[in-house]
Amino acid sequence: MALALEFYRSAPKYLGARTLGSKAPGLITGGLAPLRLVTQQDPEPTREGWARVKPRLAGICGSDLATIAGTSSFYFSPLVSLPFVPGHEIVGDLLDDCGDLKAGQRVVISSVLACAARGEDPPCEHCAAGNVGRCDRVTVGHLKPGLQTGYCAETGGGWSRLMLAHRSQLWPVPDGMSDATAVLIEPLACAIHSVFRAAVPPGGTVHVVGAGTVGILTLIALKAFTTADHVVVAAKHQRQRAAAAMAGADDVVRPEHAVKAVRRTGRAVKLTPERGMEFLLGGVDVALECTGSSSALDLALRTTKAGGRVVVSGIPGRGADLTPLWFRELDLVGAYTSGVEDLGDGVQRPTFEMAIELASNLPILEELVGATYPLGRWRDALDHAMAAGKLGTFKVAFAPQERQEI
Ligand SMILES: [Zn+2]
Repeated sequence: MALALEFYRSAPKYLGARTLGSKAPGLITGGLAPLRLVTQQDPEPTREGWARVKPRLAGICGSDLATIAGTSSFYFSPLVSLPFVPGHEIVGDLLDDCGDLKAGQRVVISSVLACAARGEDPPCEHCAAGNVGRCDRVTVGHLKPGLQTGYCAETGGGWSRLMLAHRSQLWPVPDGMSDATAVLIEPLACAIHSVFRAAVPPGGTVHVVGAGTVGILTLIALKAFTTADHVVVAAKHQRQRAAAAMAGADDVVRPEHAVKAVRRTGRAVKLTPERGMEFLLGGVDVALECTGSSSALDLALRTTKAGGRVVVSGIPGRGADLTPLWFRELDLVGAYTSGVEDLGDGVQRPTFEMAIELASNLPILEELVGATYPLGRWRDALDHAMAAGKLGTFKVAFAPQERQEI
């Protein structure tokens, strides 16, 4: 029997959380929470290619918080199966031999439950090309619906003591890498993917909106994989700004000063509308929205030059004003999870492989993991994660094998 946090949604409770979630974050971890601590039957791998994984650390992601708070879109409802165990940023120990990997191997998990995991043969066109994040079959095949591990009723997720994963999801962790660094591989792979989606022109200017974990990892990926000449980072909280400066941002400002800061990078004209945020005619080549709020997306759209590109790196906030998208002929692109990246000259590499290599050379990454909690303290963990920016914390994670202190 294994301990797990389970997301179960009863409509009235869920709707309650949806109304209250944004106004009173503490309440979503109280009586209205769609989450509960349960003891589950140990999952058993019943199909070829599946194995048990014992999570060592499992991160809490903005998308998890949006799901629990009921603020994410109902669009997701047919893409998940209930009840599920959340947690898709995972480092753990393999308990069974799995293909070429031996039991005892420490692994990180590429979370998409795509064609390979679902036994879909032949795979969809996207999986065939390596773009597993774009898989069209995430609701069919052997498994119940679930776009990723952490949203599927059958696989379990990272916020538990035991879960299942498919060989296609497993990546061995180099021996010298700490668990705290390894738990950031999945979000780092997402950041690398969004930087490839950004297609920054050589010597281009970039605006990164937000410097929580996603923003900082995005900045690190920008430095590693592009030749961006000038990167402006807008961040609300002091520790975020300090981390952005350390990670190599050229200019770090509060969001309210970002329009001015971007104007300084070129010969942009700043205009102030009768209502709402000021904007530029001119601006950066590329902006990356890394917070999931509509005001951050507004800021990204309003500081990108005509013909430039805006990348949405997380579940987008609703209600952004798309007028600049039209008027400035911007390209608005999404960046969801990871897959393979095109390195030019016909060379492609799995994003996870690139993330593992980059993280191996950046042991300082582990400092982004600011707090870990046993599963029994899930309310404290989620409250901490919700207020992470304010509290000066980046990543909050569960340490599922830890016993709760009494
Ligand atoms: Zn597929």
